[in-house]
Amino acid sequence: MQSVADQLSSGILIVDQELTVLAWNRWMSQHAEIDAAAAVGQPLDALFPDLPAATLKRRVKAALQLQSPSYLQPRKGYLFRVALDRIIDSHFAYMQQRIRILPDENQSHRAIIVVDDVTATREAEARAAAAAEASRRYLELIDNHVMTLGVDANERATRASSALLQASGWTLERLRGTTLDALGLGQLDTQDTDNGQLPERAVLRADGSTLWVRVRKAQGLEAEAGDEHYLVLQDISLQKEIQALSERDALTGAYNRMKFDQLLLEAISAEQRYGQHFSLILCDIDHFKRINDNHGHLVGDSVLKQFTTLLQVQTRSNDQLARWGGEEFVVLLPLANAEAARTAAEKLRQAILAAHWPPIGKLSASFGAAFHAPQESADSLLDRADVALYQAKEAGRNRVCVAAAPVSAPEA
Ligand code: GH3
Ligand code: MG
Ligand code: MG
Repeated sequence: MQSVADQLSSGILIVDQELTVLAWNRWMSQHAEIDAAAAVGQPLDALFPDLPAATLKRRVKAALQLQSPSYLQPRKGYLFRVALDRIIDSHFAYMQQRIRILPDENQSHRAIIVVDDVTATREAEARAAAAAEASRRYLELIDNHVMTLGVDANERATRASSALLQASGWTLERLRGTTLDALGLGQLDTQDTDNGQLPERAVLRADGSTLWVRVRKAQGLEAEAGDEHYLVLQDISLQKEIQALSERDALTGAYNRMKFDQLLLEAISAEQRYGQHFSLILCDIDHFKRINDNHGHLVGDSVLKQFTTLLQVQTRSNDQLARWGGEEFVVLLPLANAEAARTAAEKLRQAILAAHWPPIGKLSASFGAAFHAPQESADSLLDRADVALYQAKEAGRNRVCVAAAPVSAPEA
């Protein structure tokens, strides 16, 4: 019997009701580092000072009274403090044990305690729990800081990260089932991805303000739940704000010269590609210096603002207005020939004349219009408009002059 017990890879010890050791096997000798001869006759708590003796005694007595086996789940993870012999850098300081208390069938006042080493299992459980906790924290971090939107096969929102809900002010209830189009995120596969840039979208926040985002489809998560996929949104509101500021004149809010240069080049390339002709009007306020001189610079500034508003109101929505400098403005008129440009300028001239300009009363402006000739450069067009403006000034101001076509180009 003893030799069988010695072959086992579990600890086997026999105790009486007072926990006096009556026998233990080789496994116990090896792990406790106490020979069976030294252990036998000793109370268990003398051999293992931190043993919860009272609890164990109660459990032994109960097992004996009921004559049925019982399990013990030690609070510290072990009953017998035994150093680890295999696992290096373990989560645990001591061998983790599973304890069974079996009544000895032959001796009614004796119990057999079986000790199993479950360190490896507990180790794996602890590591899995730690890994799960790390993933949970990582996902929480992403959820709080990255704007993501789950979308189903019908392009309807299914879920959103906390970061997105917070930035947008949307609630999950309102969001669920809403189409990408309705959210301002529609048609992500269209042409604006082919210049290498991610699509930019203006998303309407719950409070009505605009959240500018750049959108990408998250790769690798498509198959997770049927045809659901995820969008990752990057907040570019600040960039947009800075960009908007950088292309506008601070005093009047009209486009600045830099932006107009860009619009003019775009108009020229649109003409080359699609044959969309256009004209340009330069407009300069007459005797503006006198306003400053007579009423002060602040009045001059407010006239410039009112002047800008008038030009904006009196031009078409697809005309482009910019402050060219000082009291000089420029308007680009898509699809307008020389005659249309003259008409438009004349309309502006009369509106300026008809308006009231507090506190100065009346105001007039002079205009130089030019129709863009095929192949003509931006500089050449601007020069011709400038010459026409100069002619209008020379001829007595408060009038419109239209530039002659460039010498080498065919007539408009
Ligand atoms: P003309 O009829 O020949 O165009 O005469 P003008 O007085 O309008 O032209 P001039 O070029 O002699 O003077 C333009 C004035 O506009 C001079 C400048 O101080 C003033 N000006 C330029 N920018 C601003 C501005 O931002 N605010 C104010 N208040 N005045 C400005
Ligand atoms: Mg002037
Ligand atoms: Mg001027």
